Amino acid sequence: MSGLFDRLRGRRSGAPAPADSADALEIFGVHKSYGKLTVLDGIDLRVRRGEVVAIIGPSGSGKSTLLRCINHLEKVDQGLILVGAEPIGYRLQGTRLHELSERDILRQRVKVGFVFQNFNLFPHLTVLQNVVEAPGSAQRRPREEVLDRARELLAAVGVADKADAYPRQLSGGQQQRVAIARALALEPEVLLFDEPTSALDPELVGEVLAVIRDLAAQGRTLVIVTHEIAFARETADRIVFMDQGVVVEEGPPAQVLDRPAQDRTRAFLQAVL
Ligand code: ADP
Ligand code: MG
Repeated sequence: MSGLFDRLRGRRSGAPAPADSADALEIFGVHKSYGKLTVLDGIDLRVRRGEVVAIIGPSGSGKSTLLRCINHLEKVDQGLILVGAEPIGYRLQGTRLHELSERDILRQRVKVGFVFQNFNLFPHLTVLQNVVEAPGSAQRRPREEVLDRARELLAAVGVADKADAYPRQLSGGQQQRVAIARALALEPEVLLFDEPTSALDPELVGEVLAVIRDLAAQGRTLVIVTHEIAFARETADRIVFMDQGVVVEEGPPAQVLDRPAQDRTRAFLQAVL
């Protein structure tokens, strides 16, 4: 963690951006257990601005837990996560980290967009309302502007004509595209996807992957947990293979997928490819 506090302090005092502020997300030595079960066993990971990282790995390896920690839906036991050089869950005061209040955590969560496996749209709200009422959208922007932006985002993901429908009236693929629009509405620094297509009928997977591919092409910072290896190969700048709470190996797709250095990676790829 050397240099960490210097960077945090530089940020706080409004000093010029440090040389490595190109990192959108930095994860230092994160541990997380549930009772006796160690789920994250020392995760270190950096994601640069505009980078697309795909996380792959067996079920139960801690992928969802890691995403939930980045979004502060779970609290880490040890280690630190920075988004845009800000410590998640903490505020730096002098050289000490102070825990954020619930309200400040909600405010901070806006920096991280989250797209869930099961869409998690509000069933009692229309599609447009779902995007406008995105959690934490205590934005001080004029209502008209928020509505315009929501309609723009719905158009961008190809569901403009569903603005007044309710989630149950949409296909799974459409619902997931709405969920992506909702995540984008908060202009997050990083967008996290947790198996965004695994709840979809096979014929609906492509339309959601196409939207994610567009976001990648726009230069957004994306972290995608996925079992779609072909998609990861073609879209991600980097593949991270996790197993049993650790990053076993990471690198460009051609390296990790075609010439894995570790036996565990090879075994996983043989099982899924
Ligand atoms: P993955 O997403 O890679 O499949 P998860 O992060 O969901 O893995 O889960 C990792 C392990 O942590 C699993 O053994 C799971 O049962 C356990 N786990 C996840 N969340 C909880 C929780 N809230 N309480 C207890 N155990 C949990
Ligand atoms: Mg999972």
